[in-house]
Amino acid sequence: MAKARPPDTLDFIRPAVRAMDGYVPGEQPQDGGWIKLNTNENPYPPSPRVREAIRGCATDDVRLYPDPMANPLRDAAAARYDLTREHILAGNGSDELLAMVLRACVDAGDRVAYPTPTYSVYDTLVAIAGASAVRLPWPQDYSLPAGLAESGARVIFLCNPNAPSGTVVGVDLLRGLSEQAAGLLVVDEAYVDFADDSALRLVRERPNVIVLRTLSKSFSLAGMRIGLALGPPPVIAELRKVKDSYNLSRVSIAAGAAALADYDAMREHVQRVCATRARLTEQLRALGYEVPSSRANFVLARRRGRDQRAVYEALKQRRILVRYFATPELADALRISVGTDEEIDTLLAAMADIAR
Ligand SMILES: *Cc1c(COP(=O)(O)O)cnc(C)c1O
Repeated sequence: MAKARPPDTLDFIRPAVRAMDGYVPGEQPQDGGWIKLNTNENPYPPSPRVREAIRGCATDDVRLYPDPMANPLRDAAAARYDLTREHILAGNGSDELLAMVLRACVDAGDRVAYPTPTYSVYDTLVAIAGASAVRLPWPQDYSLPAGLAESGARVIFLCNPNAPSGTVVGVDLLRGLSEQAAGLLVVDEAYVDFADDSALRLVRERPNVIVLRTLSKSFSLAGMRIGLALGPPPVIAELRKVKDSYNLSRVSIAAGAAALADYDAMREHVQRVCATRARLTEQLRALGYEVPSSRANFVLARRRGRDQRAVYEALKQRRILVRYFATPELADALRISVGTDEEIDTLLAAMADIAR
């Protein structure tokens, strides 16, 4: 009989992986009855055409592999954003596209730079790659921190609007950054439909800029896992080499194409979210929170130097979930997704009550 391996031996795992903490997603309770304002989902439904498209997939054709390039989705995106198919790569969520960027661009020890605090998946992906993170703190006013272009990074991540602050950097500054930087500038526009401007035009102007979009937030499709990379065709062609063969299911391809074709449904829900965001911001400020003006579908509410864990816990007791970050730089803040008006009224009443 072969001798069993001692159970505590994990030598076959890469040291970079053993050394890291895994990404901790926001809580996703699978029972109902929650007011869920912790992971920036859209409170409104997707276009009814999405449901039709999903229904259309319920056939025995599921025995066949999907289109490996998700071309119906790429074509819908090309039409929507006035690009060609060759400018577009589809991902199983934009998280997968972020991973593909590092797979294609970064060797162990290479640098990846980004302002912080920002989307914490970047830290996790850099750790998996065994790369080195150059984390440059945002100034108080969330203007572009100095040193990004000079960091020697092969990849610069710029989350714009930024999570969790909701703040934006102007497109002219991003163009300047891409001109000074030797590496690839990845503008993560997960929330851009809630903002006023996009870096999309840089994709045609600059050889080293790609824009990432997701259908999870503005298009109300977080459960479908659909992301898009929009970039210069030569960059897209390289990224394509490192993607999984069939990374989007038939259902995701059909749902994504249908969602992009019904842009008006998305716009209408985005406008409602933005109106509620203004009210939420104003009332949180009245409760004594510092709230940067957000161009996303969430706000960051901060009480300088006062840990917000107790408020988070008290809200959770009332079955209201918001995002509390246990990291030192954000422990005095809560990130609150913009829900329906009714949900936000319930939240604000609970927060006023807790403050008493
Ligand atoms: C939600 C989010 C993503 C990931 O979106 P998926 O398409 O759902 O994977 C990427 N970047 C940022 C900044 C996000 O907030």
